[in-house]
Amino acid sequence: DGFILTERLGSGTYATVYKAYAKKDTREVVAIKCVAKKSLNKASVENLLTEIEILKGIRHPHIVQLKDFQWDSDNIYLIMEFCAGGDLSRFIHTRRILPEKVARVFMQQLASALQFLHERNISHLDLKPQNILLSSLEKPHLKLADFGFAQHMSPWDEKHVLRGSPLYMAPEMVCQRQYDARVDLWSVGVILYEALFGQPPFASRSFLELEEKIRSNRVIELPLRPPLSRDCRDLLQRLLERDPSRRISFQDFFAHPWVDLEHMPSGESLARASALVVEAVKKDQEGDAATALSLYCKALDFFVPALHYEVDAQRKEAIKAKVGQYVSRAEELKAIVSSSNKALLRQGTSARDLLREMARDKPRLLAALEVASAAMAKEEEANGEQDALDLYQHSLGELLLLLAAEPPGRRRELLHTEVQNLMARAEYLKEQVKMRESRWEGETLDKEGLSESVRSSCTLQ
Ligand code: ADP
Ligand code: MG
Repeated sequence: DGFILTERLGSGTYATVYKAYAKKDTREVVAIKCVAKKSLNKASVENLLTEIEILKGIRHPHIVQLKDFQWDSDNIYLIMEFCAGGDLSRFIHTRRILPEKVARVFMQQLASALQFLHERNISHLDLKPQNILLSSLEKPHLKLADFGFAQHMSPWDEKHVLRGSPLYMAPEMVCQRQYDARVDLWSVGVILYEALFGQPPFASRSFLELEEKIRSNRVIELPLRPPLSRDCRDLLQRLLERDPSRRISFQDFFAHPWVDLEHMPSGESLARASALVVEAVKKDQEGDAATALSLYCKALDFFVPALHYEVDAQRKEAIKAKVGQYVSRAEELKAIVSSSNKALLRQGTSARDLLREMARDKPRLLAALEVASAAMAKEEEANGEQDALDLYQHSLGELLLLLAAEPPGRRRELLHTEVQNLMARAEYLKEQVKMRESRWEGETLDKEGLSESVRSSCTLQ
């Protein structure tokens, strides 16, 4: 009533969706989803109407908005915001795979939608690329669709035939028919896997093969190519955990370093950035260059999403100008900190040689010190931070054990100092690696014409 239906946009498990426009002068374009009542469990129709009423109240930038609904004797009609960019399945497959950077932005948007729903006790239960829409193709934003529905429909119909695609369903949903909200996390893992590798982990040539893969208890193995960051691999592995009690929790998912919802562009990004700058300036005035630098960098981690979020051109320019100043100061601080860092490392050299001399009769100690030197050498290489960090951690593991067993004396003192030096070094590197990884945020800003200087500031240290 009140709309003219035009082309068919798609159909899924339960419904057919049409593009439509309002008969009113506004000619507003919408998508109308027609759900046949007979596809619902009879008792559910009424519950469903109540549920829809709740969904109507939900507003989130990454959830398809339900504007209104109507029904007649045969159908329920959901009048929704129209998404012109098609669905994520098509988006992935026309590109074969998505680069990690793009997948990460999408995953952040999906996670923010899921966090919003999770806080309201709503599960999706049917997450898959076909149910994730794109606002437009020019500036694609994810919009979660088709949610709050599956709760009213068992994935098994009256004839015990599975509805929907088992490729995205958590194993417990298919095998035990007993499941809860945590199935959504599994599906997120499958979607991410498909985005990065081009097909879901259980992709099969026959139903038998598929069933075997679902029922097996083998750990999901990730392809070695394309190369991905370790955070990304870690997240995939923890989402694609068959046992729901060992799967990553919702809270840990939202906070996972690869998702990092905290740094997602939002209305709060600017305030967080500014608060950190105030602290940085204070530390700078107190002469604590290292802490000031670290705070400036943390602030920039919020300025980048703040710029992303700001739509007003004038305000954007104002933020950029400010950021430019902070970047200049941070560059100066970086020079100060790195020269004093090098000096510290040089100071340690003679003590280090002595310790090595005293370790001649202890091959294990000598080997661990060797690994530490390799770490220092790695640090000098371009992009060697992560490898250096691994080596530091490896040698520290050994050295700490050896230190605990070392009898009092000169060698123990030297070893103690060296362990402290190495730990400080590893801490510093850890921060550096974190900064480097946040570069993707800066790079996505390039399109908006942000200066090279601001971008490089994100990898500042
Ligand atoms: P079902 O419950 O049957 O799975 P969906 O809500 O997933 O129905 O919609 C089916 C398909 O219709 C989607 O995969 C998508 O291609 C298209 N579609 C659904 N909603 C919209 C929308 N708001 N804008 C544009 N296309 C849509
Ligand atoms: Mg669907």
